[in-house]
Amino acid sequence: MNENILEIKNLKRHYPVSSGLLSLSKTTVKAVNGVSLEIKKGETLGLVGESGCGKSTLARLLTGLEKADHGSINFKGHKLNEWTATERSTMLQMVFQDPYSSLNPRQRIGSIISESMRIHKSGSKTEIQRRVEELLVQVGLRPEHHKRYPHEFSGGQRQRVAIARAIAMNPDLIICDEPVSALDVSVQAQVLNLLKSIQKEFGMSYVFISHDLSVVSHISDHVAVMYLGQLMEIASAEELYRNPLHPYTQILLDAVPVPDPDMQGEDVIIDGDMPSPISPPSGCPFHPRCPKAMDICSQTQPKLKETVSGHKVACHLY
Ligand code: ADP
Ligand code: MG
Repeated sequence: MNENILEIKNLKRHYPVSSGLLSLSKTTVKAVNGVSLEIKKGETLGLVGESGCGKSTLARLLTGLEKADHGSINFKGHKLNEWTATERSTMLQMVFQDPYSSLNPRQRIGSIISESMRIHKSGSKTEIQRRVEELLVQVGLRPEHHKRYPHEFSGGQRQRVAIARAIAMNPDLIICDEPVSALDVSVQAQVLNLLKSIQKEFGMSYVFISHDLSVVSHISDHVAVMYLGQLMEIASAEELYRNPLHPYTQILLDAVPVPDPDMQGEDVIIDGDMPSPISPPSGCPFHPRCPKAMDICSQTQPKLKETVSGHKVACHLY
């Protein structure tokens, strides 16, 4: 009954980079290295992983801002590139991490929010103005704020403006790339709650990206754990929290702060740095840092496979 809005299969994006002083040898950064997943209508898929693991690259591929080198993206029953850029922009929107650079400082808020409506000529000037005021109220701002400029707002308010812009054309899917990471902790919850209530009212799907598993598990129906361009584990948020299977997920969960200070464990340190995506380790990309690594882990790459219903993990332990 719950159909998929987006399906991606074996998606890859390798960036050519030059290595060495003389830049003679060319190599690639394997930013996204074979990702498959699906997103259901009206649901939130959380995407979590350390900085540099390929989350933003995947986000740009999903919105069509960037082309994949390999693999397929199916959006609402068609290949993503079968939709025109204009069609995509009504159905697919993005909210970025930095509310300071994602809004044009020279544009008034009203003009920022109404841009896509004006491009798509979705109403008369008065109708669009009315819609802008309605959107401002929906995101918890005031109708008269349309006259202001971005610098007159706080970070949290700017992110509300970015959300109003994203929902203006009633999109089917919004990709939120670390939307609260740049905000004060006290403001983060307000913006998360706003995203939740908007989803409840309008029923769009979200891809919610964060390096912080506690933020992701709050808002997500399903969570995908990414490491060096690949998915390590994917399950419902509840299941992942209760029964994390991948050693990497277990370590990420241990790193989530406990609210009671007396209960706080030591800081979790993952052995070693994250390897370079230019030359990812053979076998399982996590094996050099994995406390449970076996011989096979450095030789054979584990496939992402279903262990219990709806719970997939890429690990030789299972
Ligand atoms: P995340 O969002 O998880 O922090 P990114 O998707 O931004 O990760 O980056 C993944 C990897 O790809 C990083 O090693 C990054 O340096 C590299 N990368 C991202 N964009 C480019 C690009 N345009 N050219 C070359 N390398 C890139
Ligand atoms: Mg990023």
